[in-house]
Amino acid sequence: MARQPIERVLIVGGGTAGWITAAAMSKLLPKSIKIELIESDAIRTVGVGEATIPQIRRLNMMLGLDEMEFVRETKGTFKLGIEFNNWGGKGESYIHTFGDVGMPLASLPFQHYWLRAKEAGQADDLWQYSLHRRACDAGRFAPLERVGRTPMGGLSYAFHFDAGLYARYLRKFAEAHGVTRTEGLIEDVALDSETGFIRSVSLKSGEVREADLFIDCSGFRGLLIGGALGVDYVDWSKWLPCNRAVAVPCERTDPLLPYTKATAHDAGWQWRIPLQHRTGNGHVFCDGFTTEEAATETLLAHLDAPTTADPRPLRFTTGRRKDFWHKNCVSVGLSSGFLEPLESTSIHLIQSNVSRLLELFPDKSFNPATIREYNRVVGKEYELIRDFLVLHYHQTEREDTEFWRYCKNMDVPDSLREKMALFEESGTIYREADDLFRDSSWIQVMVGQGVAPTAYHPMADRLSDDQLKDFLGNVDRIIDQAVAKLPTHAEFIDQTCAAG
Ligand code: FAD
Repeated sequence: MARQPIERVLIVGGGTAGWITAAAMSKLLPKSIKIELIESDAIRTVGVGEATIPQIRRLNMMLGLDEMEFVRETKGTFKLGIEFNNWGGKGESYIHTFGDVGMPLASLPFQHYWLRAKEAGQADDLWQYSLHRRACDAGRFAPLERVGRTPMGGLSYAFHFDAGLYARYLRKFAEAHGVTRTEGLIEDVALDSETGFIRSVSLKSGEVREADLFIDCSGFRGLLIGGALGVDYVDWSKWLPCNRAVAVPCERTDPLLPYTKATAHDAGWQWRIPLQHRTGNGHVFCDGFTTEEAATETLLAHLDAPTTADPRPLRFTTGRRKDFWHKNCVSVGLSSGFLEPLESTSIHLIQSNVSRLLELFPDKSFNPATIREYNRVVGKEYELIRDFLVLHYHQTEREDTEFWRYCKNMDVPDSLREKMALFEESGTIYREADDLFRDSSWIQVMVGQGVAPTAYHPMADRLSDDQLKDFLGNVDRIIDQAVAKLPTHAEFIDQTCAAG
C-alpha cells in the first residue's frame, strides 16, 4: 500500500520541549513537511531546567551548533557532575561525575582493584582516582583534548544554562529552518468523531489550526494528551515523593564551580546551579512533610549571595503518562511525565523522545506497531531513570526526620533491589542496555550513598600487592598531571566562550 506521508506537524507549546522538538524536526525532516509551533504569552513556561547531562552534546552536534556560541548565548557554564551533600548521611558528601573512576586493567573494571586495595587498607577514597572529581575540587575545566590526552580519556561534560535564553536560541534556529510560530491561547481541541484522532485546535483569536501529527509540549497540563485524549498519568509518588519546588536566582558567586550541588534538607533537597550571570537555586520538597513557607525559609537560609528575583513556587507529580503516544498525538516534555530534577534528566528525556519519534516517524496510517514500540522504549527509559533516582533517597543512613525515615523504609522497585543486592554481593554492576546511566554512575552513587560491597572480582587477585600499589599510584599521578594542565573554569569561559 502506498505511504501517505505526514504533511503538517503542529507543536503545542514553546518551552524547552517545544523548541527542542521544533529545532530537531526542522533540521531533519523533509522541507515538504510544514511545522508550526503555537505558544501562549499568557501561560508561562516552567523554564527551570538549567542543568543537563553529557548527552545534550549529541543534540548540539546533530543540530550543528557551535558549542562555544551555544554557551555564550545561553550564559552557560560547564558541568562535570553533581555533588551530593547530606544524602547518605548528614554531613557526608560525594560526587556523581560524568566520567569513569580510575581505568580498567586487563578488562576488569577499576572498582574491583579499588575494593581489593581498600580491604587491605591501602586505598584512598574512591574519588581520589576520579579525574573529574579532582578537576571539580580544583575548580578547573577545559575539554581535555585541548590540553593533551590522558590514558584515562578526556573529560565528559554537560552544561548549566539559562533555560529562557536556551529556548530563545533554539527558536531562532528553528525559525531559520522554516518553523512558523504563532502566539495564541488554545481554547479548544476538536477530535474526529469516528477515529478519535485530533483534527484541530482553536485559538482564543478564533483561528483554527489543523495538522496530521500533533506534538503535545504544553507542559504539566498535558493539554492534548491528557486534556483532549484522556490518557492517564501513572503516579510514582510512593517512590519519588517530592511534589513541590520553590526556585530563586541569586547573584553569581566566584569561583565558578564546574558542577551542580544537590544538598539534602529535612524534607527534600536544594539545587545550586552556577551560570555566567547568576546562580540558580531551588528547594525540591514534599508537602506531606513540610510547608511551602518552611521550604522557602530553608532555601533562603542556604544561599550564598543576595537574590535577584522573588521565590517562585512550582508543583508537580512524579510519574509518567500511561501512553506517551496516543492516536496522532505524541507528548514530549513535562506533558509526558516528570521525574524530578535530581539527576537533570528532563531535558535529556525531551531530546531522547524526539530522536525516537524521528526514528519511528509515522505516515498518516499511524501504524499501531510503531506506536506500541515507541511507548515501550520510552516507558523503559523512564523506569530505568526512576530506579536510579530512587536509589538516592532509599539508600541512606538518615533517619533524623519523618521524610528520611519514609524514604529509607519504603518499598523500592524489584529492579532496583536486585541491582543493589548484586553490587553489595560482588562489587559488580550489571546494567540494562537501554539504561541512560553507565556503570560508573551507578557505582559512584551506590558507594556515595553507602552501599559497601562485601567482595570483589577474583581477577583482581592476579596482581601482586606491589603491582596493585603501582597501578593505583599511576592512576593518581596521571590525574595530577592532567588537572595541572587545565585552566580554571572561569578562565576557560572568559577565553573561549565569552569573547565572541
Ligand atoms: P513548559 O515549560 O511548561 O512549557 C509549556 C508551553 O506550553 C508554554 O510555552 C506555554 O505557553 C504552552 N501552553 C500551555 N498551554 C497552552 C495553551 N492552552 N495554549 C497555547 N500554549 C500553551 N530539567 C532539566 O533537564 N534540568 C534541570 O535542572 C531541571 N530542573 C527542574 C526543576 C524543577 C523544579 C522543575 C519543575 C523542572 C525542572 N526541569 C529540569 C524540567 C524542565 O524545566 C522541563 O523539562 C522543561 O522546561 C520542559 O518543559 P516543557 O517545555 O515541557 O513545559
